[in-house]
Amino acid sequence: MAVVVQKYGGSSVATIEKIKAVAERVIERKKKGDEVVVVVSAMGKTTDHLINMAKEISPNPNRRELDMLMSTGEQVSIALLSIAFQQFGYDAISLTGFQAGILTEGMHTKNRIADVRIENVKKHLDEGKIVIVAGFQGINQFGDITTLGRGGSDTSAVALASKLKCTCEIYTDVEGIYNVDPRMYSDAKKLDNISYEEMMEMASLGAGVMEARAVEIACKYNIPIYVALNTGEKLGTYIKEYDETMENKAITGLTASDDVLMVTIRNVPCKAKSIALIFERIAKYNVNIDMISQTAPLDGYVNVSFTTSKEDIYTIDDITKEIKKEIPTIKVSKELDISKISVVGIGMMKQSGVAAKVFSILSENNIEFKQVTTSEISISYTIDSIDKGRAVTALAKELNL
Ligand code: ASP
Ligand code: MG
Repeated sequence: MAVVVQKYGGSSVATIEKIKAVAERVIERKKKGDEVVVVVSAMGKTTDHLINMAKEISPNPNRRELDMLMSTGEQVSIALLSIAFQQFGYDAISLTGFQAGILTEGMHTKNRIADVRIENVKKHLDEGKIVIVAGFQGINQFGDITTLGRGGSDTSAVALASKLKCTCEIYTDVEGIYNVDPRMYSDAKKLDNISYEEMMEMASLGAGVMEARAVEIACKYNIPIYVALNTGEKLGTYIKEYDETMENKAITGLTASDDVLMVTIRNVPCKAKSIALIFERIAKYNVNIDMISQTAPLDGYVNVSFTTSKEDIYTIDDITKEIKKEIPTIKVSKELDISKISVVGIGMMKQSGVAAKVFSILSENNIEFKQVTTSEISISYTIDSIDKGRAVTALAKELNL
């Protein structure tokens, strides 16, 4: 008898009918002899609604309370799903993150999984139950309820699978992982396989299907992830260790993200000390920054730009106020209409000229970029959001994606 973790996202449990359909699918699997742990997200857009309510009260709600609030969404889904199983005559139990042993650390609303004490889940599986675990949530060392960042249920599912040493199946409303988001490029192709490395890169660069941290955990413990349509009708995508049989193109995928806040700090004295101070302050507040660029010194001053997630906008205000106290010359501006376009592929490690090709495609299409960063297997460009659609189409076409 094999154990499997199945995760159903918000769209798969958006209505009571859909919850019943999930229960039926899980029961089919159970009948085949597998033991199933089901991880679910909040119904439909529940998490957004919860956050909006908090924001009607305060523009920057307390993060501990936000966690308390957001975690309720998943609790509704697990309870309803468990009731559905029981109604169909199957023994089931719903568990919160805490009850499933998901221990977390870090900042509220952005916690990381520190460990999973899997005993309770195992005990219930051994008793023949279907175990339903609330995704996205855990408990920290102070006993407070925490959440793992938006889209965090994937991470909950993979963390459970890695402790149970089993495959993790992620069911969603798309057929699998596409090389380009089909909502942006209608000729996008579904991939049968993708390596952990490429998927991590694509996820962190904006491919919404999978959460980067989930893939990171899967890679670390070598747990295969299967992403597929929640009806199970079509073959999905396997995320697994790279092997030679995978397609050997320089570029596997293209992503675009609008979650870019570009911050520019002007009039920074051109001293290593000032630059260090800026980034130390940012680090102190746990803000993740992505691209960094700096202009050449002029009269002893430089301008420093960096990008981060839009959700950190208020924290950035706090940080830059702090910096201004120590470097009074600075002027800060924020740009929100920026998108990031990235090309990703393990094949890039062996092939040169990918960046040059992308530069020429952008320039032929009169698309200006602001910043560029590269990793071993990706190249990213920030552009004005208004050019995003054109950039995606031009790149996807000319790179044969
Ligand atoms: N419900 C959470 C969210 O909307 C977690 C998840 O869906 O994975 O972000
Ligand atoms: Mg998701």
